[in-house]
Amino acid sequence: MFVYYGKGVSGGIALGRVTVFEREHKQIRRDGVEDTTLEKRRFENAKSKAHDQLSKIYEKALREVGETNAEIFNIHMMMLEDDDYNESVIGIIEKQKVNAEYAVSVTGENFAMMFASMDDAYMRARQADVRDISSRLISCMSEENDDKTETENNSIVCAYDLAPSETVLLDKEKVLAFVTSRGSANSHTAILAGSMNIPAIISVGDELMQNVKDKDMMIVDGYSGRVIVNPDKKTLEKYEKKQNEDFVKKERLKRLKGKDNVTKDGRRINIYANIGAVENVGDVLLNDAGGIGLFRSEFLYLGKEDYPTEQQQFEAYKTVLESMAGKKVVIRTLDIGADKQADYFHLEKEENPALGFRGIRVCLEKTDIFKTQLRALYRASAFGNLAIMFPMITNDWEIDEILSMCDEVKRQLDDNGIPYGDNIEIGIMIETPAAAIISDILAPKVDFFSIGTNDLTQYTLACDRQNGQVGRFCDTHHKAILRLIEFATKNAHKNGAWIGICGELAQDTSLTETFIRMGVDELSVTPSNVLKVRQRVREMKIE
Ligand code: PEP
Ligand code: MG
Repeated sequence: MFVYYGKGVSGGIALGRVTVFEREHKQIRRDGVEDTTLEKRRFENAKSKAHDQLSKIYEKALREVGETNAEIFNIHMMMLEDDDYNESVIGIIEKQKVNAEYAVSVTGENFAMMFASMDDAYMRARQADVRDISSRLISCMSEENDDKTETENNSIVCAYDLAPSETVLLDKEKVLAFVTSRGSANSHTAILAGSMNIPAIISVGDELMQNVKDKDMMIVDGYSGRVIVNPDKKTLEKYEKKQNEDFVKKERLKRLKGKDNVTKDGRRINIYANIGAVENVGDVLLNDAGGIGLFRSEFLYLGKEDYPTEQQQFEAYKTVLESMAGKKVVIRTLDIGADKQADYFHLEKEENPALGFRGIRVCLEKTDIFKTQLRALYRASAFGNLAIMFPMITNDWEIDEILSMCDEVKRQLDDNGIPYGDNIEIGIMIETPAAAIISDILAPKVDFFSIGTNDLTQYTLACDRQNGQVGRFCDTHHKAILRLIEFATKNAHKNGAWIGICGELAQDTSLTETFIRMGVDELSVTPSNVLKVRQRVREMKIE
């Protein structure tokens, strides 16, 4: 029996047999050719075949994992047309008089290395996409190219890494879970795993792939990130029991749908859900959340080639608001920067990006981008119960500037006779120690606070949330964090504002009672955790 640890990116417990998924690491031969025109034609043909395959994958992804997650395959199609990439391939064929496979393989590797050397984690993760595209092109040049990712029934797929297109092609009916040696939580593969709703663990280390074989028995605990290969009888029985309990727990939780979030002695709290894309609204409704407490709008901007237009944003916000049918939807304005980057913003590389140009700072400097989003938000507000929230606030003058821009946008809409809601709540994230400490000054200016415990923890404890090395020091239960939350709660209430928590800590049920005692009004959690938190609330007595 071997035990490995990785990063759980999708919860749940799976027990099954391993299917080792190894991308064919065919040695690409370097063949000299006479007829370079023929090789260039073979490359062009491969491109059009790859394009057809990708548009089919896009359709499948669209059905199974939604538009935002499927977008990566559109990007792959665009990559096929990338001038630099194509010029490099053609240049190698012509100058070196070599076969097209070799030219693609060298180009793919060069581009992947270029991405790998970038400082930005998002861009580094793009090396997988470039490799994916290049190996697709090479396989399109071979005779027996088919685009299947065959897996046995009920298997746990183990791979060094899975490219996004390989992940989406895995047959969800057959795959119980997947485990990869490599990969980052930032990669599209990890994001897709979460939306496929099967247990998944990444970044386990190469040792796993060196030791595991087809048909090995495996346990995957997506909650703890634990992978157990060929468990002994006792461990297997323990996990079978755990899996049953997990199943029963999930079934039992379903009975809580439609029930109130109320303690035994009558204290009520709102339990809302966090989303990053329009497609997540289905999960919000399925899990009976009372509203949306955080829509991370920056996901509309990520993975794109250019800014989403006002109309595109308006349609996304309107769909969410209409689908929520009058329930509150808190949309957070663009929180770009630090770990969330998009090329077309052309943000400068920074020494300390988490302490740099991010969130509201970008919006207050690049006001055109901000006002476009505000216009889309106000227009959409006519279609539901919208609240607008601003990230990364550290000072009261930021709120003054924001409010004056909101007024300007509303005046423009008035001048153009465009309707918008008349009761839009305005709130800020409390995710910097500064905001918590001056929450008495900030509260009179807004309708609500929402505590971003992810950033509040990193800034209060001086622990980079991206850095696994400081994990032990990054104690989310630290008294400093709890004191700041309590302090902000008191100041919100003193000034007639409500307060919620939308960071990961909101779903930590060991703190639910503490938060209710503090007087927190709302907890906003991932949709699949709504009923778990409701259950915790209903079993407690406060007085
Ligand atoms: C937070 O910081 O807790 C938060 C909710 O925002 P994000 O995780 O998107 O930075
Ligand atoms: Mg944050």
